[in-house]
Amino acid sequence: MKVTDLIKHSTKPFTSIEIIPPKKGTRMETLFGELEGLMRYKPAFMSVTSHAHERTIEEVNGKKIERIKNKRLDTNAICIAAQSRFGVVPTPHVICRGFTKDETEDMLLTLRFHGLENVLALRGDGPPNDGEFANIYASDLVEQMQRMNRGEYLDPMENADKTDFCIGVAGYPEKHFEAPDFDTDLKNLKKKIDAGSHFIITQMFFDNTAFYSFRDEIARRGINVPVIPGIKPLYKKQHLEALPRIFYTKIPQAVQDSINRFEKEEDIYRAGIDSTIAQCKDLLAHGVPGIHFYSMSVAKPTSDVLEGLK
Ligand code: FAD
Repeated sequence: MKVTDLIKHSTKPFTSIEIIPPKKGTRMETLFGELEGLMRYKPAFMSVTSHAHERTIEEVNGKKIERIKNKRLDTNAICIAAQSRFGVVPTPHVICRGFTKDETEDMLLTLRFHGLENVLALRGDGPPNDGEFANIYASDLVEQMQRMNRGEYLDPMENADKTDFCIGVAGYPEKHFEAPDFDTDLKNLKKKIDAGSHFIITQMFFDNTAFYSFRDEIARRGINVPVIPGIKPLYKKQHLEALPRIFYTKIPQAVQDSINRFEKEEDIYRAGIDSTIAQCKDLLAHGVPGIHFYSMSVAKPTSDVLEGLK
């Protein structure tokens, strides 16, 4: 089922979750045992992040050789396994950085072979791509996906029919950190939509007014695809410092105060979860189609928020 059809046919707001592939060597039971707690809430789809390979130059017998390493298990393998284990609709993240267009085409055809219909197209972080055979921006990746949806491949392929991917992209209610200003960032978001993407998932934010202005502004610019807010449950004091630093987001002072007034771990946890529940209730009252939770593969905080929203 395509994410856009899930949204169209859903009679109430949906939940989706994002997970991170565990480190290499983790057993499937460890990840899926953790996720079982979240599957009780029947997420409409589950997205799985993707990470650029680490590339190093190592000297072997006097020769400099490039070594490519992955720290985490394969995104697509997790998607395929989760689809058969839980019957959940998987949405792998596909990134530009660290992949050539040929590798991306191979990956997308493998996903299609396994019946996956949704993908999230991202530039990714990590060392920039260069050259004719790599995608630079997420809009280039969306264009490649749409060419495949028209049956156009990098090299002519016999007996290859069209793919039919439903494509999501990232949006930034507080602006992408590299963009010089909001206007430029929104013009670049429009490029991704005009290239043929079907829905937007936002970066995490904690101030709903930023999300509402973003939603109004993109509608004014003719972007009419569904916009799904991305929400990260707060449950540790460290989040107050780390999340703004890593994700370029602001946490309102009132939210910080509501957590900082506690010292005991369980009180901090409860205050954070209550604040996330309040944030989600406000979003739902403002007509969002659903909420995408950045679970980071830890089930309990997202489950506790969902329990509070029941
Ligand atoms: P783009 O849309 O390509 O934009 C990147 C920057 O370039 C922006 O500043 C934009 O304004 C600018 N820009 C875009 N097009 C042009 C153009 N044509 N000319 C000039 N400037 C342009 N990262 C990962 O590594 N793996 C993941 O799995 C992952 N999942 C994510 C999921 C979500 C929902 C979100 C919100 C982010 C995710 N990220 C992930 C992080 C993301 O990859 C980074 O934020 C990255 O820096 C930008 O990705 P993008 O797809 O938004 O890039």
